[in-house]
Amino acid sequence: MKNTSNILQGIAAAPGIAIAKAYLFAKEKEDVSHASIENVEEAIDHLDGAIAKSKKELNKIFSLAIDKLGEKRAAIFEAQIMILDDPILIGNIHQRIREEKKHPEFIVHDEITKYQNLMNSATEAYMKERSHDIEDIKLRIIRNLKKKKWKSRITSEAIVVTTTLTPSDTVLFSRESVKGYITDFGGLTSHAAIVARSLDIPAVVGVHDSTNKIQNGDTVIVDGFHGVIIINPDEIQLKVYKNKIDKLSLYDKKLAELRDEEAITSDGRKINLLANLDITDEIETIIQNGAEGIGLVRTEQLFHENDQFPDEESQFIYYSELAEKLYPKIVTIRAFDVGGDKVLPFDVKEPNPFLGWRGIRFLLDNSKLFKMQIRAVLRANLHKNINFMIPMISDITEIDRTKKLIDTCRLELLNEGIKFESEIKLGIMIEVPSVAVMADEFSDCVDFISIGTNDLIQYLLAVDRGNEIVSSQYQEFHPAVVRTIKHIINSARCESDCVSMCGEMAADVVAVPLLVGLGLKSFSVSASAIPNIKKLIRGLNYSEVKEIAEKCLRLKTADEVCAVMQKYSTEKLTDQLQNII
Ligand code: PEP
Ligand code: MG
Repeated sequence: MKNTSNILQGIAAAPGIAIAKAYLFAKEKEDVSHASIENVEEAIDHLDGAIAKSKKELNKIFSLAIDKLGEKRAAIFEAQIMILDDPILIGNIHQRIREEKKHPEFIVHDEITKYQNLMNSATEAYMKERSHDIEDIKLRIIRNLKKKKWKSRITSEAIVVTTTLTPSDTVLFSRESVKGYITDFGGLTSHAAIVARSLDIPAVVGVHDSTNKIQNGDTVIVDGFHGVIIINPDEIQLKVYKNKIDKLSLYDKKLAELRDEEAITSDGRKINLLANLDITDEIETIIQNGAEGIGLVRTEQLFHENDQFPDEESQFIYYSELAEKLYPKIVTIRAFDVGGDKVLPFDVKEPNPFLGWRGIRFLLDNSKLFKMQIRAVLRANLHKNINFMIPMISDITEIDRTKKLIDTCRLELLNEGIKFESEIKLGIMIEVPSVAVMADEFSDCVDFISIGTNDLIQYLLAVDRGNEIVSSQYQEFHPAVVRTIKHIINSARCESDCVSMCGEMAADVVAVPLLVGLGLKSFSVSASAIPNIKKLIRGLNYSEVKEIAEKCLRLKTADEVCAVMQKYSTEKLTDQLQNII
């Protein structure tokens, strides 16, 4: 009989499989001294020394993190250092030591806990997660007030099991022989999860009682693909997972061999495989993974990364760098897509943000900002490898108005004697059903179109893409979605191969055969998905998937379409990742 009594389920936070001994990392509960103090100045000196020491430690972790994770990810630690420099926080602590004459440990604990409680009362998961980061700072200062050191007793390969993991623990452990992480708390957005993914160390978080159920030295399997933990596996479980590890390493080798190969079906249909760029650091992975270009740069990220709209000059530098790094491949820069679930630069409350001031609607109403971006793009396009794409188009007049603004920018740059490239390929995202219905006329007006399924599905099916309550109704295999995609591909009148897809559906391994079968020839997926999708495409036979797609076009429910595609994937694509893990 199958053994399930030793299995725990959590959230799959970083993919991969590891088998090793458990190392229970118990955060020492720092007892906080409540004692009164006599010499206030001495206590403040002591505190300042502990803060300076904490800063030094964090600076060390910061440079280690830059090496291992790159600058953007390492910024988590820069933010922690900034908190230690916060004059209001430190001023308050000083003032309270002076007034209350209590031990600095108590005041630090009390004052920083207040910050944490504020964050914990927020409704956003992100803010709650950040309160764990602040815990790290609090314990670090208290530990340094006690003059204790961070200790890791890991001497051989181990899986770290703990209640919560701070980003700095995650980085520090990665210097040791850590094979995996298991935590009782935390979600997908926790920094520890993000850091584990970047370090490529399998992790399962939010397991609830792992620290109770796992003992130091137990053998543990971490399955970061499915969020599964197995404690002291029996022989059969061990065999199954060792087999999976062998297959995975073979699979990774095969993927690496394909780096310079084309994404082409077994019967010779060439597919263009592009990358989406969400954060600047991904550019190296995009190049390494052999993407044929960038199909989507989410430029609103620049606004999130800097907390303000970047000016023309910084955009010009950023776009130029991207274009140079990718040359002669194409970089598709999407105009700022703010609004909806993405932050607006102004404090506007809308009853229905997804149906409100989003994408091109916002840009045309704020033409000064839009022109800054257009000018930066025209200036950066000196090598002629930048395409410009507009989000959330719902009406042809929006394209006309954008073209007029581009003309105005050309004229301005010419009059100002600034170097720029006048020609630029202009495209639109198809995210709104009105554009899908009239794909022929819309595509007539532009050089290319890109199907944004993330939004198209939500508007076609009237299902909020971020609402968990209705997530089961968000169905990419809904026949209306499948038929709409087919309609867009069939009706597009721009040059051949001008239709691409950059929504998440393009990276769904079960959906890709269907999309190829529907006639889609260009896919833009996240950088890390490229090798796997390339391998998948190379395993397809176009005539075969075309027939399957034709069958799907006649079905009436999402379940029916999904079942056909799942069956195809399991039976025909046996050497694909989804079937070996
Ligand atoms: C989409 O809607 O599919 C898309 C790629 O845009 P975003 O996810 O940025 O809204
Ligand atoms: Mg979108």
